[in-house]
Formats: sequence, structure tokens, C-alpha cells
Amino acid sequence: MVHQSLYLRYRPGRFGEIVGQEHVVAALRNAVGTDRVGHAYLFSGPRGTGKTSTARILAKALNCEDLTEGEPCGTCSSCTSIAAGTSYEMHELDAASNNKVDDIRELISRVAIGTPGRVKVYVLDEVHMLTTGAENALLKTLEEPPPHVTFVLCTTEPHKVAPTIRSRTQHLHFELLDVDDLERHVRAVATDAGLEISDADVAYVLDAGGGSARDTLSALDATAAAGRAPDGADAVTALLEAVATADAAAALGAADAAARAGREPRVLGEAVLGRLRNAFLASVGAPLEHLAAAERAAAEHLAGRLRPRALTLALELLGQSLVAMREAPDPRVDLDLALVRLTDPEAGLTLQSLAERVERLERAAAGAPAADAAPSPTMARRAPASAAAQGAGTRPGGAFAEARRAHSRAKPPEPPTPGPPEAPQPGSSSESHRRAPRELLGQSDDRPVEPEPPEPPEPHARAPMNSAAGQGAAPGRPLPGDAQQDRGGSPPEVAGPPPDRDEAVLAWVEEILPSLSSVSKTAGARLATGRFLPNAPGALRLAFATPGALSGCAKYRSEVEAAFGRCFGHSVAVEFTADDKSTPEPPSSVDGGATVRSRYLGEVTAAAALPRRGPAEDRSGVVQVQQAFPGSRLVELEAG
Ligand SMILES: [Zn+2]
Repeated sequence: MVHQSLYLRYRPGRFGEIVGQEHVVAALRNAVGTDRVGHAYLFSGPRGTGKTSTARILAKALNCEDLTEGEPCGTCSSCTSIAAGTSYEMHELDAASNNKVDDIRELISRVAIGTPGRVKVYVLDEVHMLTTGAENALLKTLEEPPPHVTFVLCTTEPHKVAPTIRSRTQHLHFELLDVDDLERHVRAVATDAGLEISDADVAYVLDAGGGSARDTLSALDATAAAGRAPDGADAVTALLEAVATADAAAALGAADAAARAGREPRVLGEAVLGRLRNAFLASVGAPLEHLAAAERAAAEHLAGRLRPRALTLALELLGQSLVAMREAPDPRVDLDLALVRLTDPEAGLTLQSLAERVERLERAAAGAPAADAAPSPTMARRAPASAAAQGAGTRPGGAFAEARRAHSRAKPPEPPTPGPPEAPQPGSSSESHRRAPRELLGQSDDRPVEPEPPEPPEPHARAPMNSAAGQGAAPGRPLPGDAQQDRGGSPPEVAGPPPDRDEAVLAWVEEILPSLSSVSKTAGARLATGRFLPNAPGALRLAFATPGALSGCAKYRSEVEAAFGRCFGHSVAVEFTADDKSTPEPPSSVDGGATVRSRYLGEVTAAAALPRRGPAEDRSGVVQVQQAFPGSRLVELEAG
């Protein structure tokens, strides 16, 4: 007997069997039950979340001879023929490979033909892949389809579907599944199929599935066939270790081992991304109750080794690479490249080199004669005077860091129990002291970061944010006030070399874009589509993909230059230029965010362009992060 995959075997056959997606199911059942089914739906959502399965169930419901409360019976001849794929009522077309005008014309000619049943359902998968001509050909039929036809357009990328098509459909969005729902599903399937799987296998399977029901059951299939989770299951841990220690060889070795063990690069990358995201949440003190105890401990351990900023950069880098992998002929290459960028100091903006740079900036700032409250103990330890003197003259970004530093120092309250640094108090302040010296990856003696034993999870007793994130990760408020105060009152007129591209990108994402967006959302949104190319002589280069975007943004040039000037304390030239895409994406990749649609990364980069709620509100990175991760909680902000 041919083995049927678990995914096909346990594919939902009725609305009631769909895992998650309650809002979609409720909408469709209600429409069927009240006979108000639309002529065209757009099902969007990540792969493997049940879009096509749901379309089939809808087709069943529309043709079932024994419909009960919107639910198809599953046993009548219509239901069984749709389930078997032999029905005339259910037509699936892969728009990715049938994306030409002629394909759609042929489809339309068939649509017109009547049906022996009641309703023909046409499912167009990956509809965003249609050519413009094909979209136009579809449009008319979509607007007024014959009464016996319902279209279901499916896409993983709804933003790429033409607005004219979207507006003619009812849009239902499918979400990645909650890990608890998936775990119940996996255990139920395993029990029903008589599979013996350990808790560790379940954890691996959920990890590998990344919230997709199909990927999760595929992983369960593979695990059951092998008898246990593959050896590559440790690869995620090994990869994270390699990232934390900036060991490119180890990272590539771990990826290779995982590939040999049959793990898809994309799945592996997503698993790493998921773990980095957990660590990021831990680092900002977000609640981690949704994680199993072991995962929570691992997340907090990792958060103790990588700074929040390093984590966000890793998330961004890896997220972009995951987006690229979808269309890459060999996704392995993209994963390897991302790993090299994350770990190899020669490759540019790595976590390590970035952290070192930040440390230099902070030293310079600490050594500069800034108007100063008493530095916190952690700062004093991190910024010895000699290092400060050494760094102060060499970094052009001193004013930028200084403004941030003065701001973050002025704002957050000190830890609740400000004891001597070497005598940590129990609870939250001990956490803060424990973490403080590791705030920077590149510590002053250049030791590699050493592993730290995981502490018992203490989700409710996070450190106050000013030591864990406030000093480094929280950027200062933009800008005129801070910068001018620190610089003695006048806006910068002094000419200077353009800032290092990486610093410029950081300032752009964390301060300049948000501040421009707060003045004009349109300006912010337009500018966010740009990316920074390597610097021209004497100027930053901000590139836009289309001539329209370029001309639309060029008028903001003086504001942009002024904002950079305030950030860096000297006038900064910014060239606006067309992006011919011939320049490869530089490694830092924090630009814009508009192009990134990863499950995780979308959330992170979107923060850069989030609208501000009010001028008085804090605009620190921590707040951006909070907005990007609804539900996260910052102890310090609540106290203050
Ligand atoms: Zn039926």
C-alpha cells in the first residue's frame, strides 16, 4: 500500500475539522448557512495554513446534498467526489505556472460552461504570480462571474495582488497556528495514527513546522519514519551557539550537518529565527508564558549573551534571507550567506562588529564632557577613562551616541534597589547586574562571549529596562532638543565626513525615519522604501527602486540631511539616487522594512515606520519594539 502522508490523511474535510482560523471558518460557515456566499474570495496567509483545504471544504458545502448548519456532510456523492479530486465542481489552477493571459482566457472560457452541480469553485493558487495581462483578463470575469461560479484566489503575498483584484474579492486572512493548537493537533494525529513520539520529538516537530499545519505534519511524518527527531534537530542550538560566538565555520558546519540530515534550509532558518525572536522577547522582558519551560530557559540564556540590538539585527538579516530563499534556486546558498554575515567579522556589519562599534561610541560619549548626571555603575565599569579618551577623537558619531546617551540617562528611573554593583539584590535588580557587564558582545578585553549557565526562568521579575536595553538599544528621542543641548545650542553647521553607512542606517531606522514619520506619515512611508547604498565620496547614498519613488522622495532631501546633521553633529550630505539593483544588498539590511514580509521580521522592521501616537510620547526603540510585539511588557515604563 502506498504511504499517504499524514498531512493528506488528516487534511480537514469539514469546517469543524480545521485547526485554528476560527474567524475564517465562522465567516464561511455563516455565509454558506445563510446563503450569502460571495462570488470571489481572497484567501491570504502563510503556506501550509489551510487555504486550499478550506477552499475545498467551501466547494463541498456549496454542493452538498445534505448540508447541516453550513457544514458539508462528507458522505454524499458530491462531497466524496470533491474529496477524491474527481468532481466537476472543484477546479484548482496553479497561477504560478499558469500565469499568462492565454491561461486565464482558457480558464474564463471554461468558467462560462454550466455545471451539473450547483456551484463550480475555481481555486487559483498563488494568484499574486499572475502577469498584469492575466490579471486584467481575469478582472472582468471576477467582477461579474456567472451565477454558478465562485472564485477562491489564494496567495501567500496579498500585497502583491493587484488592488483592482483585491477590491473585487472578500479577503480572508489565514494565520500561522498557535503552538498550543498545533501541539494538540500533533498529539491527536500521532495518537490516531498509532505513532509513538517523545516530548522531544513533539518539540522538534513544532519547531520545524513553524506554525504551518502542513510543515508540522510533514515533520511528524519524517520523524515517525526515522523513529526519532533527526540528528539535525540539534542544528538550531549549534547555529545559535555559533552566532553568539561569531564562529562562521561552526555555523556553516552545523547548517551542513542539518542539510545532510534532511532538514530544509528554509525550515532550519525559520527555526533559528524563532529562537532568536524568543531571545529577543526575553531581552525586552516580554512575557514568555507561551513557551515550554526549556524553551523559555534557552531564550533567556541566549538573551543574556546577545544584546537586544544584536538580536534585532540578526532577526532582520535572517528574515531577509528567508524571504530571498522562497525564490532562490538553491536556498542553501542564501542560508549560508546569512550565516556568514551573522558570524564573520570581515563580512561587515556582524553582531560582533556592530557591538564593538556601539561600545566605542558609548565610550566616546562617556568620555566627552557632556552635561551629565552621575553615570550608572554599569556605565562606569564599561567606560573606563582611558578607553574613552582613546575613542573620543576617532569616532565621527560621537554626538549621535552622546545625544542618545544623555537622553536615555535622563529618562529612565534607576533600578529599584540601587545597591553597590558587586552586591546584587535578589530578584529584578540582581538580574540587571548580572546582565549589565555583557551588554556588549565585544567586551573590553575582547574575550569571546562565554556561555553562561541558564538561570531558572523568572518571567515576572525582569530587570528594569534601563540597564538591559535602555542604554544601548533604546535610541534617544529625536532630536533637535537633545542634540542641540548637548552641542551647546546651535544646529550643526560644521562640515564633516559622511557617517559610516552602518551608523547611518541605524540612525535612519531608529531615529530619523520615526521622527520624519511623526511629522508626515506620507514622507515617512515613502522614505522607508529607500535603501542605503555604500557611501559616495563625501555623501550618504539613499536609493529608490523606481523613478517615481525617487522623485517623490527627492523633495524631502533637505529634511533628511538636516535630521542626519542633528544626529551626527555635523552637516551630512545625502544623495538621492535610483536603485538599479546592481549593488548587492549590504549586510546590515536594516533599511526600510517595506520589502520584508517574514512572519517575524515583518514585525520587527515594521516598527521603523510605525506611526507615532503623539508628540509627547516616548519614541525610544524600546517603545517601537513594544508596538511591534503587542503584549510585550516593560517593567520600567510601567513604573515610570
Ligand atoms: Zn455532502
